[in-house]
Parts: sequence; structure tokens; C-alpha cells
Amino acid sequence: YLKLHGIRKMFGDVPVLAGVELSIAEGELVTLLGPSGCGKSTLLRCIAGLTDLDSGSILLAGQELTKQPPRSRDVGMVFQSYALFPNLTVSQNVEYGMRMRGVAPAARRSRCEELLALVDLEDKRDVYPQSLSGGQQQRVALARSLAVQPKLLLLDEPLSALDAKIRKNLRAEIRDIQRRLGMTTLFVTHDQEEALILSDRICIMNQGQMVQEGSPEQLYTAPRTEFAARFMGSYN
Ligand code: ATP
Ligand code: MG
Repeated sequence: YLKLHGIRKMFGDVPVLAGVELSIAEGELVTLLGPSGCGKSTLLRCIAGLTDLDSGSILLAGQELTKQPPRSRDVGMVFQSYALFPNLTVSQNVEYGMRMRGVAPAARRSRCEELLALVDLEDKRDVYPQSLSGGQQQRVALARSLAVQPKLLLLDEPLSALDAKIRKNLRAEIRDIQRRLGMTTLFVTHDQEEALILSDRICIMNQGQMVQEGSPEQLYTAPRTEFAARFMGSYN
């Protein structure tokens, strides 16, 4: 459903993405796990079209994305730190992408209500982001990214700025929503526990390349490289 082939990206003379290969099946939640600086965010930004890649191909539902502008890629993204529009209310934030795409007001409003119900924030529709907690802001960001019915959802450490308790609740919520919608999802984290709990499949990345992929059980019990072993076992 999503197929990445030979993705390369240099920043200066540093190969940040050095030939990434990755496939995700429709409806699958794949976690991309790797140390800080290994290229996870860069890879997501390339898929979303926010960063140009040097070479490689990105196929989503049979369409080549690399030549398409970000807006026509049908990809939703939630960032590490909250990226809501501070001058727009919650409902205006959620409706923003639909408005840009010319969706009629009545349809926007009903879709927005649906999504706010999904993330359990119906009572916050008219407030501004600054009056929301971090967890609530990330739920709005999730609703906003789902509003345009993306074919692929990219989550770049959406929980990392939250404290432990909220993080656990929200990760269960995200998993639940992802399953209910059957949303094909690439979830980035550097938290092994999060990856083991959430994923259908885990891909371990290091220095711009995939090191190993497999089910959570496979990676935990049979890491193939020393790097993977250290990385999977070094937490908790
Ligand atoms: P983290 O877990 O800390 O978020 P990451 O795996 O997401 O790390 P990236 O943000 O993809 O890492 O960065 C990979 C490397 O590319 C880093 O060394 C970073 O400094 C470099 N890099 C990222 N963006 C740019 C840029 N716009 N210009 C130059 N270098 C960049
Ligand atoms: Mg990152």
C-alpha cells in the first residue's frame, strides 16, 4: 500500500537517508524506531512532501508521490510538538484543511463534529489552543490530520512532549482510533516500550537505513544485529 524504495537525502555532505526501503500494508500500524538523529523525521517529511528527496520512489495506493505537491498527497501528519494555529479555535483548526480544499461549510462542520467526538473534545470546539493541555492539543492535531481523510497517517513522536500518564492514555486512544478507522499509519518513536505495545510491525532505523523489521515479538526475542539487540533491550 505504501512502498518506499531507495530513498536518499543528503544534508550538506551527510547522507541522512541512505537508501531507505519500507513497505506498509493497508490498515497496518508500523512503528519506526531509532535513536535521535537517525533520520526518522526527515523520512516522514519526505513522505509528506515537506522535504525534497534526492532520489528514490514513494508509492502510495499505486500513485507515485515524489512529483506531487504536499497538498495533493493524501497524507496526514502529526508533529512532535504542537503545531496548531494559535489564532484559530479548535474547530477552525480541524476544519482548516477541508476549507483549503473547498469543502462546503455544512459538510466541514459535520465532519469536524464527528472528529471531535472521536478524540473526545466536543466541548472544546470554540476554545483556542493555548487553553488546552498538551494531550488535548495533540488530540486536536490528530483530528485535524484525519479531517481530509488521508490514505496514510504519519505520526512523528506525537506523545514525546507529554508526561507519562497522559502519554499512556493517549497512545491507547491513538491505537484504538487507528484500528477503528483501519488507517494505514507510520508511527515514529524512540521509545521501545511504546513501539512494542502499539505496533503491528516495528522497523528499526539507524544512520539513515533500516536495520531490521519484524513483529514486536520477533524484534524483542530475536534481534538480528547487535545494534537491534542493544536498542530493544536497553530500556526498562
Ligand atoms: P529525533 O529522534 O531526535 O527526532 P530524527 O531521527 O527524527 O531524530 P532527523 O530530524 O531526521 O532525526 O535528523 C537526522 C539528521 O539530519 C540529524 O543529524 C539532523 O541534524 C539532520 N538534519 C535534519 N534536518 C536538517 C536540515 N534541514 N538541514 C541540515 N541538517 C538537517
Ligand atoms: Mg525527529
